[in-house]
Amino acid sequence: MTQPIEKTSIQRRDAAIEEIGRKLKVRAERGRRFAELTSLRVGGAIDWVISPETEGQAATVVAALDAVPIAWRALGSGSNVLADDGEHHYVVLSLKELKGDVKFDGVRVSVSAGYSLPRLCVDAARQGLSGIEGLGGIPGTVGGALWMNAGAYGHEIGTVTESVRVARDGLVAKIPGHSISWNYRRTSFKEGELLLGATLILQPDDPEKIRERMEEAKSKRLSTQPHGGRSAGCFFKNPPESAVGTGKLIDEMGMKGERRGTAIVSPVHANFIVTDGEDARASDALQLAEEIRERVKREHGIDLEYEVELWRANQPESETDHEDATTKEQ
Ligand SMILES: Cc1cc2nc3c(=O)[nH]c(=O)nc-3n(C[C@H](O)[C@H](O)[C@H](O)COP(=O)(O)OP(=O)(O)OC[C@H]3O[C@@H](n4cnc5c(N)ncnc54)[C@H](O)[C@@H]3O)c2cc1C
Repeated sequence: MTQPIEKTSIQRRDAAIEEIGRKLKVRAERGRRFAELTSLRVGGAIDWVISPETEGQAATVVAALDAVPIAWRALGSGSNVLADDGEHHYVVLSLKELKGDVKFDGVRVSVSAGYSLPRLCVDAARQGLSGIEGLGGIPGTVGGALWMNAGAYGHEIGTVTESVRVARDGLVAKIPGHSISWNYRRTSFKEGELLLGATLILQPDDPEKIRERMEEAKSKRLSTQPHGGRSAGCFFKNPPESAVGTGKLIDEMGMKGERRGTAIVSPVHANFIVTDGEDARASDALQLAEEIRERVKREHGIDLEYEVELWRANQPESETDHEDATTKEQ
């Protein structure tokens, strides 16, 4: 009879979360779904969403959750996440309210994790600061960009990051950018580490020239990628062993426009899966993605690696099952 034990454990967890919300004056909500919080507009119910508004508050919330312990995951704009249709029995720490003010100081800019990356790029261009103009079309937050080492058109956020602020023991700790490995859409941040903000170092340049380069990147993006659609950007990474990009590989297999239920291989860019309709399902997107992987393996011998993160629905934790308190599956 495990059910009553789990129920007691969930009730205790819920009471602890309510207490954390009250004590730390942070919004803790139930009844949200990943379909509202991710750009693919799919994904099931979430037990709790907690939305800190300052870096200090976020650091104390994480310490309080870890102390119980209560499982949590960080979410920015959800533009790189495919969450299952089932129930997600953990806390989502939504960073979108953690915006603060951007602070420019000479060539340095300090920004909080929930700030919009496209907006930061515009702000930097206005200040005559170059180095991130290629990132202007990447949807999402600064925190998500740091976690993934987001990049486009020759720019990656890691190359201009002087330091990152992270949550440690309830406090805001600063770690130098050079101590982090910045790889292709992957970094060495540790599982369960919450990123609170960063300081970037940019280079002075003519604002007009920066704006021109931003516009160039934007029009390239508009002509090669679906816009206004519900996607998560490139679904798969480009395979290092192939001279041909993943989009081209999928296109050459004739899969553009292929549909499975509510998910479609974008007719504009074959490495984008877009979803359709109010009742769009993660399972359709996943089925289509798995078919693509199987065909690429069969026809080219290449194992495609997901660029999008797959977040699995899970069973509620029992009282003894807490070692996996912060879970980040790839
Ligand atoms: C149309 C479109 C185009 C795109 N083009 C590009 C592109 O050109 N280049 C590119 O790199 N990406 C691209 N992407 C993917 C996506 O926009 C980026 O990966 C973006 O940086 C994700 O930011 P986010 O805030 O949405 O993160 P989320 O999707 O919310 O999260 C992504 C990961 O980061 C973690 N995370 C987020 N915030 C924090 C935090 N504060 N602390 C700890 N972990 C955190 C999450 O747990 C998750 O593991 C595109 C997506 C779309 C929809």
